[in-house]
Amino acid sequence: MRKKIVAGNWKMNNDLSETEILLRELKNKIIPDAVSVMVAPTFVNLQTAVQLLEGTEIGVAAQNMYFEEKGAFTGEVSMSMLKGIGVDTVILGHSERRSIFGETNTIIAKKVQAAVNNEMTVIFCFGEELKDRQSGSHFEVVKEQLDTGVFTLFEPAWKNVILAYEPVWAIGTGVTASPEQAQEMHGFIRKAIAERYTNELAENVSILYGGSVKPNNAKEIFNQPDVDGGLIGGAALNADDFMAIVNAF
Ligand code: PEP
Repeated sequence: MRKKIVAGNWKMNNDLSETEILLRELKNKIIPDAVSVMVAPTFVNLQTAVQLLEGTEIGVAAQNMYFEEKGAFTGEVSMSMLKGIGVDTVILGHSERRSIFGETNTIIAKKVQAAVNNEMTVIFCFGEELKDRQSGSHFEVVKEQLDTGVFTLFEPAWKNVILAYEPVWAIGTGVTASPEQAQEMHGFIRKAIAERYTNELAENVSILYGGSVKPNNAKEIFNQPDVDGGLIGGAALNADDFMAIVNAF
């Protein structure tokens, strides 16, 4: 059975003291048994998050990593550095990494491969831009991202893969995909996994939706049969909003 997951991507928000405040607020909340919850603070606050959340049901993820193990890669962070502080989940392929920092499908694929080879769990983000949806090529664009990003993986690696469909036009815009649009794409993604691998594998992969999920729309999105949770940006920065989303299944 696939897991229900809600992950908060804090992006480049919250300095150390703000991080501590938000983590302490989250720590006091009750996490439903059926939902895996994680938060992804910025690199410099990851260790604090791991320490503060120790003994809770809330996991900690990184927002990025580099695919090389060590060396002359100024400004980058390796898998072993993350694992060394107790972080074994990483968000890869986020649209902001793609559009602002120039990460291509090929670079992201290398990161995904390196992460799963090192037993890290990957939250693989992908999704079409507004122009793709307007031109009707959204399924094609998403299939291409899946083909290069994760469909090169061998089947066993999928135990460490979570997918996050995030239509770029819905990220941070306040415009969310309708529950029907989310379901249509999630159904397409699950079918593509079944065609590339097996029905069984497809049934077991958690596919999260991301893009302006808020307490007032989470329930109808999470109610869709192929939506297994959310990757949350803005609303993850407020403990009450985030927990309302965690409890929206
Ligand atoms: C995100 O950045 O992954 C995201 C979904 O952001 P928001 O919820 O703010 O749209």
